[in-house]
Amino acid sequence: METIKTIPEMKQWSERARGSHRTIGFVPTMGSLHEGHMSLVQKSVSTCDVTVASIFINPSQFGKNEDLDTYPRNLEGDRRLLETAGVDVLFLPSPQDMYPEGYKTFVTVEGITGHLCGQSRPGFFRGIATVVVKLFNIVRPHTGFFGDKDWQQAAVVETLLRDLNIDATIKRMPIVRDADGLAKSSRNLYLSKDEMTPARSLSRALELARHQVQNGQFSAERIRREIRQLIEKNKAAHIDYISICDPDSFIEQDEIKDESLIALAVHIGKTRLIDNCIVRREKCKE
Ligand code: AMP
Repeated sequence: METIKTIPEMKQWSERARGSHRTIGFVPTMGSLHEGHMSLVQKSVSTCDVTVASIFINPSQFGKNEDLDTYPRNLEGDRRLLETAGVDVLFLPSPQDMYPEGYKTFVTVEGITGHLCGQSRPGFFRGIATVVVKLFNIVRPHTGFFGDKDWQQAAVVETLLRDLNIDATIKRMPIVRDADGLAKSSRNLYLSKDEMTPARSLSRALELARHQVQNGQFSAERIRREIRQLIEKNKAAHIDYISICDPDSFIEQDEIKDESLIALAVHIGKTRLIDNCIVRREKCKE
């Protein structure tokens, strides 16, 4: 595996790969990799001719009081995982190169970013959209791989690729969880032993909601109440949002439709966790 740290070198590498008609798969990450990230990497390696994975803790998506400085870092471990998985290039741009002094351009996706995480984290999706456009311009992938864990983020990326005429497609992959249902996340490293039970209440609440829908409960208000009760049994848990909404527009729904997204953001102590699932009036599916 080659490590590339500069933007011009990365562009040259991609130009050569495209010149020799190889398809480029791209997995953008912030590092501290786990099985969730690796499911994207494995999909890329198995479906594209070459795979680029990036590790970049993107300052523009962090709010002032968020965890930019303490975000988990594990470069050597990450490198080993990527190499073993058959990644061709690890792209490691520096914040100075990505956002040099005098940097002025940001990308805003309207509408869908006004809901869920966009509402609780102002500027978050502006940072995501900006870095994704920059990374896609540098790496020029044919396919980018994103996880459903960050459902709204994947929708934002799909929207900006379409709207800005960027010739790449997105492949979305299901949420990878631990044996107890907790969605894998780099931020799980922040959780203390005592916080593991409250952390697991997110997936347990989604599971409960799914069962309710299966049993014919379609009232969003009732389902939301059940989710709230289950999560708030834990003193360490503070709900940011419980959304039952359209999976594309993120507009809240009064009742479960043919397809609804149930999305949660919950603070467990100092750690903010998100999780989601899709439910259908007929059948339920992750
Ligand atoms: P991050 O490093 O948190 O920016 O995540 C990089 C990519 O990995 C994003 O597309 C995430 O949606 C995806 N990802 C993170 N956690 C998971 C998970 N548990 N299952 C599937 N994909 C994930």
